[in-house]
Amino acid sequence: MIVMSLVKYKQKRSFADTPEPTGGKGGGERSVFVVQKHAASHLHYDFRLEIKGVLKSWAVPKGPVMDPAIKRLAMAVEDHPFDYKDFEGIIPEGNYGAGTVIVWDEGWYEPALTDGGSKAANEKQMLKDFNAGSIKIEMHGKKLKGRFALVRMKRDEDDAGKNWLLIKDRDEYATTADIGLKDKSVKSGKTLEQVARSRTAKTWQSNRKAEKPVKAKLAAAIAKPRPRRKPVKRAVAKKT
Ligand code: MN
Repeated sequence: MIVMSLVKYKQKRSFADTPEPTGGKGGGERSVFVVQKHAASHLHYDFRLEIKGVLKSWAVPKGPVMDPAIKRLAMAVEDHPFDYKDFEGIIPEGNYGAGTVIVWDEGWYEPALTDGGSKAANEKQMLKDFNAGSIKIEMHGKKLKGRFALVRMKRDEDDAGKNWLLIKDRDEYATTADIGLKDKSVKSGKTLEQVARSRTAKTWQSNRKAEKPVKAKLAAAIAKPRPRRKPVKRAVAKKT
């Protein structure tokens, strides 16, 4: 089955060159969320909510906060495949979003305003709220907890309704403490820098056959964050 909303995602990427996931189905009992920290050309956080089998996604340049006084810009981006929730690794240079990704937070969420509906009913509501530009959720993550709102800013001639605000609601989890200081992956315990240097990053476990030009790109991507060391190109080539 072709998931229509993933067409854009697929158009932007060449899966011979990037280890990023192509599909997956949301089959769990609860709706999941993931926040990835992504050192692309500009460092940002990707905030993703499972809604109807895909991950509705926003790029949050400054990252989520737990302080209700701070509103964060969240730019809506293309839907991502469900399996993206587990993606941690290196998107090789030359590809869309090239850079390193860690799973900064993960968990599940539910609509904040209704209680205890089925997953299907919750996501039906979420999709309606998404289309209406106002989402209120309760997050159950390792870092992000409690109620959050995502509110679409008023459309004007210059945008296509892509600009939203991510706002922490006032509750017992609200704090002015800087959650951005918690900089490690909740999956691997590694920082972005550590994953960037790691040869065991997901990139290397990809079951897709890496072609030679891809390996050169990967080596370049990995070599970049450690300029003081010798390029790892040679060591990488030996690995096969
Ligand atoms: Mn991103």
